[in-house]
Amino acid sequence: MNLPALHRSFVKYFLVLLFISTAIVVSAQSLRVEPMHWWVGMKNPSLQLMVHAADVGETVPFVNYPGVTIKKIHKADSKNYLFIDLIVAKNTKPGRFPIQFKRNGKAVYTYDYELMQRKPNASQLKGFTAADVIYLITPDRFANGDASNDVVSTMRETTIDRKNDYGRHGGDIRGIINSLDYIAGMGFTAIWPTPLLENDMKQSSYHGYAITDYYKVDPRFGTMEEYKELADKCRQKGLKLVFDGVVNHSGSQYWWMKDLPFKNWINYPDSLRITNHRRTVNQDIYAAESDKELMVRGWFVETMPDLNQSNPFLAEFLIQNSIWWVETLGLGGIRQDTYPYSQKKFLEQWTCRIVNEYPQFSIVGEEWSTNPLIAAYWQKGKANNTGYNGCMKSTMDFPLQQALWQSLTEPEEWDKGIVKLYEALANDFVYTNPKDLLVFGDNHDMNRILTFLNNDVDLLQMAMTYILTIRGIPQVYYGTEALLENSAKPGDHGLIRTDFPGGWQGDKANAFTGVGLSADQQRIQAYLKKLLNWRKDKKVIHDGSTLHFAPSNGIYVYFRYSKQEKVMVVMNKNTKEVQLSTGRFSEILKGHGQAVNVMTGEQVSLHDKVTLPARSATVWEIR
Ligand code: CA
Repeated sequence: MNLPALHRSFVKYFLVLLFISTAIVVSAQSLRVEPMHWWVGMKNPSLQLMVHAADVGETVPFVNYPGVTIKKIHKADSKNYLFIDLIVAKNTKPGRFPIQFKRNGKAVYTYDYELMQRKPNASQLKGFTAADVIYLITPDRFANGDASNDVVSTMRETTIDRKNDYGRHGGDIRGIINSLDYIAGMGFTAIWPTPLLENDMKQSSYHGYAITDYYKVDPRFGTMEEYKELADKCRQKGLKLVFDGVVNHSGSQYWWMKDLPFKNWINYPDSLRITNHRRTVNQDIYAAESDKELMVRGWFVETMPDLNQSNPFLAEFLIQNSIWWVETLGLGGIRQDTYPYSQKKFLEQWTCRIVNEYPQFSIVGEEWSTNPLIAAYWQKGKANNTGYNGCMKSTMDFPLQQALWQSLTEPEEWDKGIVKLYEALANDFVYTNPKDLLVFGDNHDMNRILTFLNNDVDLLQMAMTYILTIRGIPQVYYGTEALLENSAKPGDHGLIRTDFPGGWQGDKANAFTGVGLSADQQRIQAYLKKLLNWRKDKKVIHDGSTLHFAPSNGIYVYFRYSKQEKVMVVMNKNTKEVQLSTGRFSEILKGHGQAVNVMTGEQVSLHDKVTLPARSATVWEIR
């Protein structure tokens, strides 16, 4: 390097220094305290505040408010953080008070903290149950209710392109709010929008799973006020709102990545390692420690740093953040992403702390395993050899999802076809409560159910009838009713998350109004609407018992029953109409002579034979 070059590099170095010091001065004016506010009257009186500001770690916080005491102050590895343990005594009144951060007796920062009054019966929030049917929505792809937020110039991804499967399409919270009458009218009773929090990533920010601020709504989806409005309107229309939580990882553009509170806030901070995705290590009694370590601590993908929940401050941050959203929105449940990738001890704490505050609340974790032993492992009350004992009621029935499409598409043989569905349900003995499993045909991460079923609309109708009548909590992906499919690119996430017809101005087809829909689309939409609305008050479907008979000749018969009611469902895979003798089902049909077809209202006699249309699932209420 010659001298002038050295000089230039010095100038550059100086400019960089100048830039850094300017940055510190600017950030010195910004003080971040999270949770930004809290509530009086929580069951747990402890509250830990994470404070971030330049050199705040060198200050001492002071609080003067009746009922509120500082129990302990913790410094972090970075001097720009402080963690404060507060106790909010039982009868503390709601109100505001300053938290002063003093150095040499002088307040360097002041934060106006608020302890809010809880809504009446806030601790009695009811989570989703088998009485609900959850409509899963990818917000960017559902409905664009506000074109003014399509592009936000301050975000890293500023383009919008509906032709790009992995670009942003403009759907938002306003679009969901505008569609609530449609959703409720269809007969759904809960919505699960995939994450709506800020994803300020350079690309693929539409899906929401690379969160860059756990306390901020992504401005392209809308505002915090709009999220609250969505929650209020859901409540008014009898819809539960399910929050999609992501505690395993955040986005690499998270604001704290530039200044981590602790070196071990994330796993592998210096040398990126990707998880092995070997989810069985959580249960495997022979698993190597190194495999277990990499599974839980490795990053999900390169743009999603793995959060280290064994850091107690991070664990507390995430637990309080979840409670903050439950309380703020009056949620009807949480769906937790990538459940087995987080640390087990943390998952126990996270689930049990939430359920302790909200005893009737529901959480469902994503454990993507087609092995029921592994799905069952995470359910509340399951006796596990590894000692995991969490408070999560629901896991996702991936085993049944796979069995469903395979059973309908495979040719009938001794060990193939509909028998797979029968045998999959026979595994229910491993679950502590099969009625709390989430049952679904597809979701946002796999082929559309119609694609799994080779675009066969009759098979789709059979699959959806099964999902809506079998035990468990049904979940339906948006657009199933409008026959959305991704057969052009199987497995392609962008295409799986196709725009809902009618969600954008100028769409030729509109599934909200029915305009421009094909005959098949109209038929399936009307079918689902009728079945969903029938299911709403059918206690026997929500929590009745189940009885099924071994399939034969491509026909599978099951009953849902209680002391008061009986429902018979018959799946006929044959390509022609079949006469089914009812004698074989006498152990449950004894004393009943009539049945009413739920869809057609037609009465049939059960004394001899019933007629099954070709490739159909028929639902009869037994009289
Ligand atoms: Ca928009």
